[in-house]
Amino acid sequence: MCGIVGYIGYRPVVPILIQGLKRLEYRGYDSAGIAVLDDRQQLHVIKRAGKVNDLATTVESLPIPSTIGIGHTRWATHGVPNDTNAHPHTDQDRRLALVHNGIIENYQAIRTQLLREGYQLKTETDTEVLTVFIRSFYDKVGDLREAVRLALAEVEGTFGIAIVSPLEPDLLIAARRGSPLLIGLGNNENFVASDAAAVIQYTRNVIFLQDNEISFIQQGEYEIRTIDNQPSAPEIFKIEYDLEQIEKGGYEHFMLKEIFEQPTTFRDACRGRILLEDGNVRLGGLRPVADKLQRAQRLIFTACGTSWHAALVGEYLIEDLARIPVEVEYASEFRYRNPVLSKDDIVIAISQSGETADTLAAIREAKLRGATTLGIVNVVGSTIARETDAGVYIHAGPEIGVASTKAFTSQLAVLSLLAIYLGRMRHLSPEDGRTLLRELQAIPEKIQQILQQAELIQHVALQYKDAANFLYLGRSYNFPVALEGALKLKEISYIHAEGYPAAEMKHGPIALIDENMPVVFIAPRDELYEKILSNIEEVRARGGKIISIATEGDHKIADVSDHTIYIPRTLPYFTPVLSVIPLQLLAYYIAVERGCNVDMPRNLAKSVTVE
Ligand code: GLU
Repeated sequence: MCGIVGYIGYRPVVPILIQGLKRLEYRGYDSAGIAVLDDRQQLHVIKRAGKVNDLATTVESLPIPSTIGIGHTRWATHGVPNDTNAHPHTDQDRRLALVHNGIIENYQAIRTQLLREGYQLKTETDTEVLTVFIRSFYDKVGDLREAVRLALAEVEGTFGIAIVSPLEPDLLIAARRGSPLLIGLGNNENFVASDAAAVIQYTRNVIFLQDNEISFIQQGEYEIRTIDNQPSAPEIFKIEYDLEQIEKGGYEHFMLKEIFEQPTTFRDACRGRILLEDGNVRLGGLRPVADKLQRAQRLIFTACGTSWHAALVGEYLIEDLARIPVEVEYASEFRYRNPVLSKDDIVIAISQSGETADTLAAIREAKLRGATTLGIVNVVGSTIARETDAGVYIHAGPEIGVASTKAFTSQLAVLSLLAIYLGRMRHLSPEDGRTLLRELQAIPEKIQQILQQAELIQHVALQYKDAANFLYLGRSYNFPVALEGALKLKEISYIHAEGYPAAEMKHGPIALIDENMPVVFIAPRDELYEKILSNIEEVRARGGKIISIATEGDHKIADVSDHTIYIPRTLPYFTPVLSVIPLQLLAYYIAVERGCNVDMPRNLAKSVTVE
């Protein structure tokens, strides 16, 4: 999620690191730092919360003669973004400095073990735990390369790391599992980066490290081995594209990149939280309020926009799986309408940025009235995360497209986990828990299958790019998806669209239907399938154009639809995660066809920090 850059060669390293970090900052980071070894092999670590420019100002005033170092821009997952938690991290007597991108899932267990062995830890991060863990192996085996290998073999989770150390002052170590990392090959100099943007100015020859590979990089050479100590045969690529394309990962827009990231981000939201054997869920951030959640008689979600749609799915999930009454409130209404709240109520704010002004105000109001407050947010250390009593991060990584996509599906992942967690505190059996969790684990692969149909969806989009209106209809779990599909289209293509519960159509919107009205039906094979087929017939009888989102293998629906887009079969609780993907793509391609600025739609802002 973050940015990593490293260098070993003959040029002054500090400007290379700062320049590289600036190139990586386009994703919006919260802290930055560098570690360099000077010509007397002294380690210097300079890091701070804030932008790369702040760091640049500090380092400019301390010229350090050095030609080897590493740098990092952080997107916090464990511990608030402050100076201490910023990377690089070091062990207590600074034998090594390390930067990390990703999440070490078993950091708590390792932390406990390290403290027991007498090591000191001074930050809240999983990264420092990894750093000191490597140090503890060094103390046992006396060899840095071996220590890194042994430690990485024991950690669970994801990492892209880079290390420098006075123990081996002519060596840069890099390794990866699940987080991107590449080596840039120069002439008598080499680079490490999480993203080609950081090195392209110096070289276009790169090696993309594969999962579970470690590389030992020197000024004029490198070696790559696997974590099990087997030699690897790397392939050298030539980067052909320009800087802007690299930032967007080769996609035309951030929104499209983020749509395609969803198999990964969904998995990240579940990472370390599924206890399959127990059929249960671990949500560490809710531990302080576990008793209250067990006793809760009512939950109230408060949110705005896309997060409010996620909250509606959350309502269905929690009522179904945990049988707790749930209410969903627009934050802007809730805060002003004198809500009835007591100290037994739990109010849960959902916000991607964690800064949404109305949602924040709603949470403050709930607190004043004595309720317990929780946050489901993306940005670690954001105001909502700080001001709520407890919460769960969705770990979707920075979302840059103004129209939210991956944050929505990650919110759904967390809400599904929350529903199972609350259910298991009540009547839900371990066996049912296991069935649900196994299906959640299968979701990323199913999202991937839908993404493979992008071309088909683009083809559908082309035919409706000139529509003036759109209707989105769904029932049960897919009613909120209908709202979300309509919102996506409005936001980026400026076509008027409405989402409705499919059966509610008869009470008004049906009057709008004629041959110029495309209607998107979200109609998976669930218990309401037959009913929604009747709704489709009603639209067909009035000449409306029908685009159906259906379960694969359902040929019946294709006979009554103008276009059918298939999604894989899943449990009804999780269909929204799948059915929203074609709607995101449909909105995206229609907007592109209309020549709209997809990443920065008119009048909208990414994080709405005003009322
Ligand atoms: N988990 C690490 C942290 O919170 C790394 C986050 C990142 O990828 O920037 O510091």
